Amino acid sequence: MTLAVIVDGYTDEPAGLGVPPYVDIYPRYIAGAIWSAEKSANVVYFTIDKVRASPHVFQKVASKADLLVVSGGVVVPGRYIGGTPITPREVVVLPRMVEGPKKILVGPLARFGTGVRGGMRAIPRFEFEAYYDLVVPGEGWLAVYEYLRSRSLESVNPYAVSRDYSLIDEFAVRGARIVAQHPNAGYNLTAEIETYRGCPRWVVGGCSFCIEPRLGRVISRNPESIAREVEQLYAYGVRAIRLGRQADFLTYMAKGVNEEEFPEPSPESIERLLRNVRLAAPSLEALHIDNVNPMTIAVHREKSLEALKVLIKYHTPGDVAAFGLESADPVVSKMNNLGNTPEDVLEAVRLVNKVGSRRGWNGLPEILPGVNFVLGLPGETKSTFERNREFLEQILEEGLLVRRVNVREVLPLPGTPIWSVGDEIARKHRRSILRFKKWVREVFDRRMMQRVFPTGTILRRCYVEKTRGRVALARQLGSYPVLNYVYSEVRPGEVIDVVVLSHKARSLITTRYPVKARSVPRRYAGKLAQLEKGSTGTESSGSA
Ligand code: SF4
Repeated sequence: MTLAVIVDGYTDEPAGLGVPPYVDIYPRYIAGAIWSAEKSANVVYFTIDKVRASPHVFQKVASKADLLVVSGGVVVPGRYIGGTPITPREVVVLPRMVEGPKKILVGPLARFGTGVRGGMRAIPRFEFEAYYDLVVPGEGWLAVYEYLRSRSLESVNPYAVSRDYSLIDEFAVRGARIVAQHPNAGYNLTAEIETYRGCPRWVVGGCSFCIEPRLGRVISRNPESIAREVEQLYAYGVRAIRLGRQADFLTYMAKGVNEEEFPEPSPESIERLLRNVRLAAPSLEALHIDNVNPMTIAVHREKSLEALKVLIKYHTPGDVAAFGLESADPVVSKMNNLGNTPEDVLEAVRLVNKVGSRRGWNGLPEILPGVNFVLGLPGETKSTFERNREFLEQILEEGLLVRRVNVREVLPLPGTPIWSVGDEIARKHRRSILRFKKWVREVFDRRMMQRVFPTGTILRRCYVEKTRGRVALARQLGSYPVLNYVYSEVRPGEVIDVVVLSHKARSLITTRYPVKARSVPRRYAGKLAQLEKGSTGTESSGSA
């Protein structure tokens, strides 16, 4: 019987997150590939944090294994609370810790190398080839499957990619049970689900920095296959699902995909998908989406609104439609083939607000837009930063809600048009970039946090992840959950309701609800007294 060890070094890509509490498709599909090749194989799953915490346990198990698969890669680096992604050093140290198994490196770091941070070139993958028997720039699960069937690395094509979902659908269902070994299982584990691959804008070349259009034709998974995977995940205890692995949720099985740049949303297909998911997993606590192209909404207003209403019917509140504006400068948009205008994106923000800003049972608006910027793109000048700022000021002025603004520097990836330009522009504009980021954090974010989470809002079912002295860190389940600093005596593993007392740029100061006044620090006592009297002093009214 084969013993295989999977080390999950975590992934973060534009369409897919795998840092705890999220579990991405990589470890699940790989486990599924192993069990598809050999039903009775023993598959042991380690997160990289588990390896760090117990290196000897890892060494003991992996040295007896036939196969060691290391997966990971951060393409869009962020700050993480739930785990720390694998470092370039660990990528080379791990295989040296064990002798015996065949060692395969998969995931974005095997495809692109490792991105240290935005604005810098990635470390090329060939640097890892000396440490592994196989580095797989293609789909890791296909390579693992082929290897286990043939028992010969020479017969494996490391560049192979799927042309359809027939094998993946099988791997996804069989591999779902690996989540039972995840440290967050039974608590806040959130499974990222793939609905389609590629970007509909591939027909016009796509954005200059993005890898998705290089995949060519868009291929979609059918709703029944997705539901079968969700059903298995649910059976193994997953209660939070994010339909996040796609370029634009609204173009799932849309009319004109692979023919038009902006296909027309199909509310019927979206309903079929969501209904099937709900039937497969009736008591989900979170069902969210991720990416949406705002131009789909601007170009197909009626169908998009219809599709958003369908989404609201089936999802859970607190959902986020992350919009890739990337730049509010029309010159940058044109030079990088972004295919959008700031006016259209602003209109999409208004429309999502119109249908999605009502609050649901967990205290959060049903669905809000997020806005992504990418800095360091060709065509960028000092005035680009003014335009970006004006765009956000307009949002503030109109009283609109945005869940979060994500500002990142371009990470030039091999295979994209921006690769030849590199990080030159980001380096040249370093000071403007830092100034813009500071403004977003200190001005925009602070005001927006007060609007989205007014003082007095009660946030239901927050999962306590850590404690630091007298304060606990807790988040709800779902897409871009806000971080709560909870001033109360609570322990990791608890699920609590909190009430908002105050705001930081990216997080909230809260206390457990119902309130025990003695646990609230003196500096927030005034806020608490105001809440008790029913006046909060913020720009929106509270709900406590
Ligand atoms: S719209 Fe642009 S950034 Fe988004 S997936 Fe397509 S090519 Fe990539």
